[in-house]
Amino acid sequence: MTKYLFVTGGVLSGLGKGITTASIGLLLKARGLRVTAIKIDPYLNCDAGTMNPYQHGEVFVLDDGGEVDMDLGSYERFLDVNLTSDHNITTGKVYKAVIEKERRGEYLGQTVQIIPHITDEIKASIERVAERTEADVVIVELGGTVGDIESMPFLEATRQMHQERGHENVLFVHTTLVPVLGAVGEQKTKPTQHSVKELRALGIQPDVIIGRSSEPLKDEIKRKISLFCDVPTEAVISNPDVELIYQVPLVLEEQGLTDYLLQRLGLTTSDRDLTEWKEFLENALHPERTVEIALVGKYTDLKDSYVSYVEALTHAAARYRTKVRIRWIEASRYRDELMEGVDGLIVPVGFGHRGAEGKIEAIRYARTRKLPFLGICYGFQMAVVEFARHVLGWEDANSAEFDARTEHPVIDLMPEQKGVKELGATMRLGAYPVAIAPGTLAHRLYGKTQISERHRHRYEVNPQYIAELEKAGLVFSGRSPDGRRMEIAELPPEEHPFFLASQFHPEFKSRPTQPRPLFLGLIEACLARSQRTETATETQAKGAAASPSGA
Ligand code: GLN
Repeated sequence: MTKYLFVTGGVLSGLGKGITTASIGLLLKARGLRVTAIKIDPYLNCDAGTMNPYQHGEVFVLDDGGEVDMDLGSYERFLDVNLTSDHNITTGKVYKAVIEKERRGEYLGQTVQIIPHITDEIKASIERVAERTEADVVIVELGGTVGDIESMPFLEATRQMHQERGHENVLFVHTTLVPVLGAVGEQKTKPTQHSVKELRALGIQPDVIIGRSSEPLKDEIKRKISLFCDVPTEAVISNPDVELIYQVPLVLEEQGLTDYLLQRLGLTTSDRDLTEWKEFLENALHPERTVEIALVGKYTDLKDSYVSYVEALTHAAARYRTKVRIRWIEASRYRDELMEGVDGLIVPVGFGHRGAEGKIEAIRYARTRKLPFLGICYGFQMAVVEFARHVLGWEDANSAEFDARTEHPVIDLMPEQKGVKELGATMRLGAYPVAIAPGTLAHRLYGKTQISERHRHRYEVNPQYIAELEKAGLVFSGRSPDGRRMEIAELPPEEHPFFLASQFHPEFKSRPTQPRPLFLGLIEACLARSQRTETATETQAKGAAASPSGA
């Protein structure tokens, strides 16, 4: 019998519900259970693909091409699984399915209603994932906050599942905020009490309450929440501030959460293996060196727009016992001076014209000053534009995405995109194989000639210009297996210590214990550079001390 664990949120959003969900998943998996996770987003969009990152953070991309909520990125990273688009259920998807059925006449003359037709569709979407993955435990995170109108059908569906499948098979975890007020720093439980009341009014009694707070919850606060919300004290769990999100599973485990969940669901397991996870944390929490990397992007005001980059850098840096500091530079305000002192540059994903020129300038800086550079997708395309403009001397070279008049559209719409009218789910999406040329930097990093990475783009290097770009010294070290589509561009080692850009997105497949080669390469190059700079400064300092004029 599959067990279902629903994670709801109260008081306000941004409580780290996604990380809590992912952490519970990791803990159960570490006990030898087969675990999967689903995210429910109550908005009407069918998927996250058409949304601006300022709305809900980064759009995460799956192997199957699903453009999904960024929480699925956390699930993949913590659980080390590859999910599919079925794992992100939205109101849009549910209604679309129901309306299509109605049009096909499948409801046989009935009045189609939220209860039971929408709720049935929600339950069926959850159960389909359970069947397909054969999971022992399916964790379902409900986006939004209890009390939102748009969450109601989802909460009702989970209430029904509890009733239908029995108390021993369905469990509710409610995450809330425990704010601290006043000079005495008193932890306040009233918001938690109110949101639990709201939940109970919908027929759901939480089994576990996880209180987000700056400090661990005091014992008396746990007792108070227990009393007012009708959960045992051992089921009131603290989720205090930590340095790294990857510590959260251990914080929850220490308070006995996993044992409580297992006992409540009638599951018995003996294993408990978090060795690799702890090794990674050990390295990440005790860095011996620091590198600073500039990220020149267009959504830098909301760091959530680039979560997968930050995580991929954290994973790779931990391997070198290094801490990465990111210098966020808003592309439209780019100036060379802002780059002073950084050890490397990342130019990430992007759409449209805003910020393009700043990104091109940043890449020029990295290329000419031999600063380690990793360009991704839009960053790859801008690297090609920069090279065409400043090495080939085609001053007007540009991407056809935002310059229809240029004589040198070195980046152009992919031919199969030409007839595309709808914007949702129509890019080149998901995992595709890439063939790597032997003897290149990309080959050294990946250690093989066939790889698979995830994609999300409409534009590509214009095939018309490949020969000229290559002749001028740009090396296309990765291509689609048929050789037609350019996937990786790099400069040879004689020209530059680390200049590499990929059309694909390596950040989506990075995991704490399995960092991605391109990020490892970047960190390695940044470390080498910062060491060179240190030695140079030391020599300079020594020289100055030795010279009479310095005395
Ligand atoms: N806008 C570019 C394209 O569609 C790049 C997309 C991206 O960076 N993911 O090809």
